[in-house]
Amino acid sequence: MEPGNRARIEAWLRYGNDLGLGPYYRDRVAPARDADTKADMGFESSEPVHHAMAAAAGQGEAVSSVRISPPNASSPLTGVPARSSFVIPAASAPSLFEASDRIEGDTFQLIRETIGDCTRCKLHKGRTNIVFGVGSVKAQLVFVGEGPGRDEDIKGEPFVGRAGKLLTQMIEAMGLRREDVYICNVVKCRPPENRLPEKDEITTCSPFLFRQIDVIRPKVICCLGSCASQTLLQTTQGISRFRGEWFDFRGSKLIATYHPAYLLRNPNAKGEVWKDLQKVMAVLGLQPKRK
Ligand code: URA
Repeated sequence: MEPGNRARIEAWLRYGNDLGLGPYYRDRVAPARDADTKADMGFESSEPVHHAMAAAAGQGEAVSSVRISPPNASSPLTGVPARSSFVIPAASAPSLFEASDRIEGDTFQLIRETIGDCTRCKLHKGRTNIVFGVGSVKAQLVFVGEGPGRDEDIKGEPFVGRAGKLLTQMIEAMGLRREDVYICNVVKCRPPENRLPEKDEITTCSPFLFRQIDVIRPKVICCLGSCASQTLLQTTQGISRFRGEWFDFRGSKLIATYHPAYLLRNPNAKGEVWKDLQKVMAVLGLQPKRK
């Protein structure tokens, strides 16, 4: 379909959805796609992006993420299992009302000023520094982690500890430098004993992350681990159900992969992560770093 028509139809469907009309295609079955398992740990080309028009009306709360290329896996948003074909998940594209949540003329400076010396949640009690994020405001690629650890809390910069060094290696293997991308977390203050951020902490802090993403408008967001991917995709499904698949998040493509800290404990999973990063590289037109 011509891209202009497609965009117009999608806008109308979202508009109808916002008005409570629909569902339109709740059970629409998309054509099966080959299970291409050829990707390996080498530097081969990755899978093409398959665009599926996300047209189903939201069941319950509308979410701002829409799967755009689901391979043979179940939807993290609906849990609908897919076999040789899949059902487009019952999630709405970013609603028109949500799109208006974007703050016109927003900047990192404004966001940082709004955060201030934050005491909005209990994490402030144990922090040394607020870890805002690091990298280029013009980045095409944003990595989102969970929350600062000890090293990050001390330095005020995300991903500078052991997991951070591995993330830097991953970025460099993609042919990029740390300063070419943007790196941030779901929560900006260190959870005590590096525990998972709690729901109220995520709810309080994540709007600042969303504002940062809205300012950058990256081509690709790569969620590192469950916390980031579940927060952005608004799902409770385990990451292994949907990692490596493409979603839409506020106009950016989103992919989830395992957290570098997980890779430190499970080096065997590095191949899976490399496959995910190759998909990102294909979208960004990147060549892997030559040794
Ligand atoms: N792990 C994260 O998720 N974020 C960091 O900044 C460091 C470690």
